[in-house]
Amino acid sequence: MSTSAKSYAAQSATSPLAPFALERRTPTDTDVAIEILFCGVCHSDLHTARNEWQNTVFPVVPGHEIVGRVTAVGSKVTKFRQGDLVGVGCMVDSDRTCPSCQAGLEQYCVQFPILTYNSPDKHLGGMTYGGYSDSVVVDEAFVLRVPDNLDPAAAAPLLCAGITTYSPLRHWKVSKGQKVGIVGLGGLGHMGLKFAHALGAHTVLFTTSPNKAEDAKRLGADEVIISKDAEQMQKHANSFDFILDAVAADHDLNAYLSLLKVDGTMVLVGAPEKPLPVASFSLIMGRRSLAGSLIGGIAETQEMLDFCGEHNIVSDIETIDIQNINEAYERMLKSDVKYRFVIDMASLKK
Ligand SMILES: [Zn+2]
Ligand SMILES: [Zn+2]
Repeated sequence: MSTSAKSYAAQSATSPLAPFALERRTPTDTDVAIEILFCGVCHSDLHTARNEWQNTVFPVVPGHEIVGRVTAVGSKVTKFRQGDLVGVGCMVDSDRTCPSCQAGLEQYCVQFPILTYNSPDKHLGGMTYGGYSDSVVVDEAFVLRVPDNLDPAAAAPLLCAGITTYSPLRHWKVSKGQKVGIVGLGGLGHMGLKFAHALGAHTVLFTTSPNKAEDAKRLGADEVIISKDAEQMQKHANSFDFILDAVAADHDLNAYLSLLKVDGTMVLVGAPEKPLPVASFSLIMGRRSLAGSLIGGIAETQEMLDFCGEHNIVSDIETIDIQNINEAYERMLKSDVKYRFVIDMASLKK
C-alpha cells in the first residue's frame, strides 16, 4: 500500500536530475507522514547522483537535510502529531539492537543504518528515496523535532552539516577557555564556526582564501589564519586543544597536527578522494590524536536542534527552486554558495 509523490531523480550517473514519480508507503502504526517544505543540498547528494562512490542504484532521489510538517501519524506514534515541524537527516532506520544502536550511536550501526536515500527499503522493496520530494514517511524513532523559533529553510542543513560538526565538538568536549580550529569555510566549516563559538571556545578559522576573513568573523571566528602562510601557521604551533578538519580536497594534515597542544585532537569530517600521508612524529610529539567522525546519533541530533533553538543558530543559505538543482550542483563544485543551497519544495508544484 502506498501513495504517489513528486520528486526529482537522477536516472543515471550522467543524466541531470529531472521530475520523477515515486511511491511512499502508507504509514504503519509507528510511522510519521511528512510534507517536505525544504531540503538542503549536501555534497553527498552530488556524489551519489553521479555515482562517484560506485554504489548508486538508479533512479536515485537524493536529499537528507529535510524539514517539513507532519501530515499524519500512525496509531502508536507518541512523539509527534499532525502539524508539528519536524526534520529527517541522513538515516531513516537501523537494526536498533546492536551495541552501537543501544548506545544511541545509530550512525555506527554494525549492520549499517538504513540511509534516507540509496539504501534498501525494507517496506516497499527497491531503494529508499530522499528529500528532493514533496513527502516522506519515516518511523518516529528517526524523526526529529525542529524548534519553532528557527527559520525552517535555514534549519534544513542542520540535519547533516549541523550534526556532522556539532557531534565531534561535543564528543571531544569543546568548551570555554579552549582554543579550537576549524579548517575550511564551506557548508560544514561555517557550521563548525557557529557551534565552536556558541560553546565558548576561542575559535580560529583556517582558510586558503584571505577574502573569507570578514565572513568568518561574522560567523563566529575570533581569528583567521591563512593556511598557506607558513609563518602565520608557525606562530600557532602547539597551541590548539582541538581542530575540526572539514576539507574534502587534498591538503597537508601534518601542518595542522603540529599546531595541537599535548593531548590535542584533530578530527576529520571531510573525505578527500585519496589517502592523506601522516608523519608518525606529528602524532608522537605531544601524544596527539587524529580521529574521524560521522554525523551523530538520533538523540544527539535532537540535542543539537534544541541547542540551535536556544542559541538561535541556523545555516547561512541560498534558497533555490528544484528546477535549478543541476545548476546548483555546478555552482557547489566551484564552492560558489554561501554556504548551503536549500530547495524550496513548493517549487515542485510548479
Ligand atoms: Zn549530507
Ligand atoms: Zn545497530
